[in-house]
Amino acid sequence: MTTTVPRPRPNINEDIRPFWDAVKERRFKLMRCQTCSAWYWPAAYCRFHANEPFKGNMKWEQASGRGKVFAFNVHRKAFTPAFEAPYVYALIELEEGPMFGSNVIGCRPEDVKIGMPVEVVFSDVEENLILPQFRPSSIVCERA
Ligand SMILES: [Zn+2]
Repeated sequence: MTTTVPRPRPNINEDIRPFWDAVKERRFKLMRCQTCSAWYWPAAYCRFHANEPFKGNMKWEQASGRGKVFAFNVHRKAFTPAFEAPYVYALIELEEGPMFGSNVIGCRPEDVKIGMPVEVVFSDVEENLILPQFRPSSIVCERA
């Protein structure tokens, strides 16, 4: 589908730039406290203890890219003509703990379920724009 409406782009500031630099290399990073190993998304100071100035105790580290659907909406009308409906916007509860907002792709919207295991996939949505999206996990999971 061709469209003249520009696609909304991620809002990238200096705090979050290392995340998007990693996405360009198809790697999924989260911020991790070097003092207590807690994971964060988005960039944050650790909430469990005093922090070093300028986030000195926080570092971007490779994360699993795995999680579960915590909540989702099926958008039957596109938020912008640049998107093609229907699509799924979901809050993914990452294996490391943080919540991450993204799309679930690779299955029909009606097949998305709360608690469904998902994994990150790096989608080339347009030139110079790779987005971390999630698809049903290829790993065989135990049934609850
Ligand atoms: Zn910490």
